[in-house]
Amino acid sequence: MATLEIRDLHVTVEADNATKEILKGVDLTVKQGETHAIMGPNGSGKSTLAYSLAGHPKYTVTGGTVTLDGEDVLAMSVDERARAGLFLAMQYPVEVPGVSVSNFLRTSATAVRGEAPKLRTWVKEVKENMERLHMDPSFAERNVNEGFSGGEKKRHEILQLELLKPQVAILDETDSGLDVDALRIVSEGVNRVRETGETGTLLITHYTRILRYIKPDFVHVFSGGRIVESGGPELADKLENEGYEAYTKGGVSA
Ligand code: ADP
Ligand code: MG
Ligand code: MG
Repeated sequence: MATLEIRDLHVTVEADNATKEILKGVDLTVKQGETHAIMGPNGSGKSTLAYSLAGHPKYTVTGGTVTLDGEDVLAMSVDERARAGLFLAMQYPVEVPGVSVSNFLRTSATAVRGEAPKLRTWVKEVKENMERLHMDPSFAERNVNEGFSGGEKKRHEILQLELLKPQVAILDETDSGLDVDALRIVSEGVNRVRETGETGTLLITHYTRILRYIKPDFVHVFSGGRIVESGGPELADKLENEGYEAYTKGGVSA
């Protein structure tokens, strides 16, 4: 069973000619089939965790380890991370001129699976998945991220997730900028992936609303660059009622 293990992770960024430590010892284990929610105030370092796992060059790991089934993730290139079974939704946030969604998805699937998917079954698979996400078929011919609305970007993320079937998926703010219908459709996609039992999911969010649709097995409160409390789904209810104040009082959040 695939296991992502984050141990005492410390990460810095360069800002205004100074080095700032953002992650201050993150510990987390995500196993295949489990759904974890990381919740926390703005600026607490949640996206920094996601970018660090993605291997974004702006983020420097200064301590700790990240392994997937014992393999050193931090030593892997971005492509190697994807091939190892890590899915990072923010990995391709930029526009990719001249590359259609359809070609992009097939290239990604080829990289991750180690062989090109058979064209006929692939086209059918993409079409069926797009229908489930209520995406217009013409979307497949558009260039990746070119003029995508917030909702289209998120659906495209979930489309990739469902087609690539990763061992561990990290979704940062998948709920931001979605109206209620889009939130439900996107959540259903995440739940389908979850029901396969093949993927461990790390759902990073500021708001509790997505947790009405996706029921996490574990909830972690993130504050000041680390996980400060962990619990079951009841912790999300507590956060919904009480907010993050109890975790940020008496200190800056990042
Ligand atoms: P969250 O996702 O929890 O809102 P972030 O990880 O985006 O938090 O940000 C945490 C802190 O790190 C903030 O103070 C933010 O300004 C800083 N930070 C994050 N990324 C960068 C960056 N690329 N350059 C400079 N500062 C950054
Ligand atoms: Mg932020
Ligand atoms: Mg963020």
